[in-house]
Amino acid sequence: MVLKSLILQGFKSFPDRTEIKFLGGMTAIVGPNGSGKSNISDAIRWVLGEQSSRSLRGAKMEDVIFGGTAKRGPVGFAEVSLILDNSTGVFRSPFAEIMVTRRYYRSGESEYSLGKKHCRLRDIRELFMDTGLGLDGYSSIGQGRIDEILSLRSEDRRGVFEEAAGITKFRARKEEAERRLAATEDNLTRIRDLYDELG
Ligand code: ATP
Repeated sequence: MVLKSLILQGFKSFPDRTEIKFLGGMTAIVGPNGSGKSNISDAIRWVLGEQSSRSLRGAKMEDVIFGGTAKRGPVGFAEVSLILDNSTGVFRSPFAEIMVTRRYYRSGESEYSLGKKHCRLRDIRELFMDTGLGLDGYSSIGQGRIDEILSLRSEDRRGVFEEAAGITKFRARKEEAERRLAATEDNLTRIRDLYDELG
């Protein structure tokens, strides 16, 4: 899967619209300590739906919004768009390019879109499932994650291989079906109880 570009605006240390183009081959981001390198990988995880502000190295979600510096004031929202190549049809979409966008306002309001169309976080999760790039994927390996993968319980390690083998999606659907089945069983029990009471 090929990332084409990342556009940040108002996200952490990027108050102005900044586009980072990934031009094929390998891209390395270098810079002095504290210059915003990790904020770029945070932006990729965030646009894919990361909900934990702690794993984005903040105390609350509002911390992803540029908070101002001595020279300029804070901004009202953070927006990140990730553009991916789909010419090989990795994603179940007819488009040759996929653009995912997340926007977050200080009021706490959140918006996601695919292309220019608003969507739910769930739609983004489903699109990325089994591609390896989703939040539970193995494409983003943060500092310390390698040790974590090596020392995880065997069931958790299996999750990494399941994602690579492309079966996470089926596991998620099976769990959803089991949840619905359990809810239906509950409803049936309730109906039987009512029936017995009335009869
Ligand atoms: P290192 O090499 O030390 O790991 P880095 O280049 O990865 O550093 P980051 O951790 O990405 O740097 O960026 C840290 C910088 O981002 C800090 O200067 C911090 O003040 C700034 N920053 C983080 N969140 C915000 C925010 N909400 N508003 C403004 N600046 C922010």
